[in-house]
Amino acid sequence: MSAPYPWLAAPWQRLLATRTRPAQALLLAGPRGVGKGALARAWSQALLCEAPQPDGAPCGQCPACHWFETDTHPDFRLLTLQEKTGKEGETRMATAIEVEQARDAVDFVQLSTYRAGFRVVLVDPADSLNLAAANALLKVLEEPPLNTVFVLVSDQPRRLLPTIRSRCTRLDIGLPPADQAAQWLAGQGVDDAATLLALSGGTPLDAQRWAEGSELDERRGVLESLAQPGQLDPVALGERWKAISPQTWHNVAYKWLGDLLAVRLQGSVQFNRDFADALARLGRKADLAKLLALAKVQANEGRTLAHPLNRALQLEAWLIQYRHVFD
Ligand SMILES: [Zn+2]
Repeated sequence: MSAPYPWLAAPWQRLLATRTRPAQALLLAGPRGVGKGALARAWSQALLCEAPQPDGAPCGQCPACHWFETDTHPDFRLLTLQEKTGKEGETRMATAIEVEQARDAVDFVQLSTYRAGFRVVLVDPADSLNLAAANALLKVLEEPPLNTVFVLVSDQPRRLLPTIRSRCTRLDIGLPPADQAAQWLAGQGVDDAATLLALSGGTPLDAQRWAEGSELDERRGVLESLAQPGQLDPVALGERWKAISPQTWHNVAYKWLGDLLAVRLQGSVQFNRDFADALARLGRKADLAKLLALAKVQANEGRTLAHPLNRALQLEAWLIQYRHVFD
């Protein structure tokens, strides 16, 4: 098995070289959308594989690999955000890894292993451990049982407890070189890889997500309206855009405001290069204080991203504030 993505070949080989004596707690850190999660899974499989290849990579054939790939390996636990069912039967993602999950993992590492090899606990995203969960895990991270390996994945390693961070061997995964990312995207059948890479801040997996989903159409619709603030109808648009997922909306709005700020401050468009003309025109007109205030609101929204009760009304208020930026 080779690295999950071509730009991960070097860290993959570095990890495999440690396969017989792996770090007991590994932290894979780096921006989102570069494949850290896939690398962490591949590494977990490498540790569990019972017939590894000469370089330490998993064989993909043995019973352990088969169990791993079907999420049934008895010596593997994944701690991640779980889907929850709300009072009205709606499902949503939890915003934290809960203490019960961490306690399960602690119990799990105290058991003897089913197979003769390693036992692996993968925590992804590790920065979503809530405080109680982090503290529960900390105890076993301090003195991990024999043959136990923890793999933590994080886009925001600063949000981890310092005591957890300090227990981990850290491996940083950076953005791939732009030409390598563009080449990979082209190989996946993505047209206009350069525009999408700019839009996603250089992260190839985000760029791929943009290319695959309806997000790109939604983005275009939103930006075409935002490019004409004088003609915005906040009520109608709030009603129409409430169907857009909060993540997509935040992604689009935040980058649009970022580009406006860049232009206003004599910089250049970073994300929305396909709207460069409109951004140049609007950026010159924008009131800096009002623009900064709105960007701050947007940045705060990014921390929550839960669906608010009255989405249409919230969007309407945002749009009214946005229109005033160009009064
Ligand atoms: Zn195997």
